Amino acid sequence: MKHKTIIEPFKIKSVEPVYVTTEEQRITYLKTAKNNPFLLKSDQVIIDFLTDSGTSAMSAEQWAGIMRGDESYAGSKSWERMEDAIKHLTGMEFILPTHQGRAAERIIYGHLGGPGKTFISNTHFDTTRANIEFSGAEAIDIAIDESNDPSLIHPFKGNINTDRLEKLINEKGADNIGAVILTVTNNSGGGQPISMQNTREVSAICKKHGVLLLLDCCRVAENAYFIKHREEGFENYTYEQIAQEMFSLTDGAAMSSKKDALVNMGGFLALRDKEIAEACTMLLIITEGFATYGGLSGRDMEALAIGLKEVFDPSYLEYRIKSTAYLGEHLHKMGVPVMMPIGGHAVYIDAKKLYSHIPVDQYPGQALACELYLKAGIRTVEIGSVMFGKYDENGKLIPAPMELVRLAIPRRVYTQSHIEYVIETFDEILKEKESVKGYKITKEPKFLRHFTAHFEQIK
Ligand SMILES: *Cc1c(COP(=O)(O)O)cnc(C)c1O
Repeated sequence: MKHKTIIEPFKIKSVEPVYVTTEEQRITYLKTAKNNPFLLKSDQVIIDFLTDSGTSAMSAEQWAGIMRGDESYAGSKSWERMEDAIKHLTGMEFILPTHQGRAAERIIYGHLGGPGKTFISNTHFDTTRANIEFSGAEAIDIAIDESNDPSLIHPFKGNINTDRLEKLINEKGADNIGAVILTVTNNSGGGQPISMQNTREVSAICKKHGVLLLLDCCRVAENAYFIKHREEGFENYTYEQIAQEMFSLTDGAAMSSKKDALVNMGGFLALRDKEIAEACTMLLIITEGFATYGGLSGRDMEALAIGLKEVFDPSYLEYRIKSTAYLGEHLHKMGVPVMMPIGGHAVYIDAKKLYSHIPVDQYPGQALACELYLKAGIRTVEIGSVMFGKYDENGKLIPAPMELVRLAIPRRVYTQSHIEYVIETFDEILKEKESVKGYKITKEPKFLRHFTAHFEQIK
């Protein structure tokens, strides 16, 4: 018989407590955290959807790998296994281990960037943009127009606008382009996938102009799932083969392995060009560690090598994508404005639409993140003008194109009853939406302000 229910394809061997709090307690906790969920303590949170990064549950195999970890400073066996796994997946010759994604980004964009350089992406993730801008270069996002309409259905909303790409390269001059970066799936743009066709077109444009094409491949396995099920010609490919084909179209890749490599810490840089790899290896040794561990323990590298294979297991990927869709589609049916179609790792709520009475300079997304915490202890993150807003010369907010709240789902962590609890919370959110007020920022740093900013509710 064919079952409708997609079960979690794992059993639980080890558990950790969920700390249950009351609404009164949460009012105090959120006040102490200056209305910024990033500043909450984990035992003040019931369901933690802040991020899917580094929050995966590891498998028994990975834990066994942890014990096998070879902690040799140079030439560790665990490094060999990690390097082999990444070479097998990416087909690239030079692999540099880093402690997480942004370390890989600092190295590669520090090397390729600098004043006068331009980077072009479907959407730069926040740490990517920060590393590029910190180098003095500029970062331009050119996802297809469809990606800016949260309710519009399109199979590959993560795609880049190839006409604009070609125009931008001509306008800036190919020599001034640091790199074109495809973020798969497009994290800040709703976890939406990129098609192979789009990747091929981008690859051809980059080749024609002699511009470097890099993959921000944090969720390349989830992206492969969408390609197999949505794009013609990939029905008979394995998920891994799809990812391999995508890598074959690019010159390099940076990964935060805290996503699709199913580990709690780790990352890497994969490159084809020897000269770039040598320059990056020097930076790696100066700031991360020796070339055969780059800031990782042997045990971390061992778990990463195993996770990078496990993530392509068809029953895992089906559970992963369908369980995320289960949450998103329930919310959609209830009338919560969610980004459609549902992405791979998260459900994104359109806070501008939900709280249409809150102007963007009063951060409707932040208001929803605070409400979800107060009502149910659910921690989420604003992906809107708090994260991406800028100021003009007069100090007026230049808002982000969308005001989203992300419910990122940790991999292999929550069960269906946790998800039902979240769905139930939205009944209340919908009922009370008119009475919710906006927020103002009372303190903020210059870069990546969403992590540490303080907020106050507007009376
Ligand atoms: C998480 C992430 C990064 C940064 O990785 P860290 O491991 O958090 O430093 C870069 N790009 C994308 C798309 C990500 O999701």
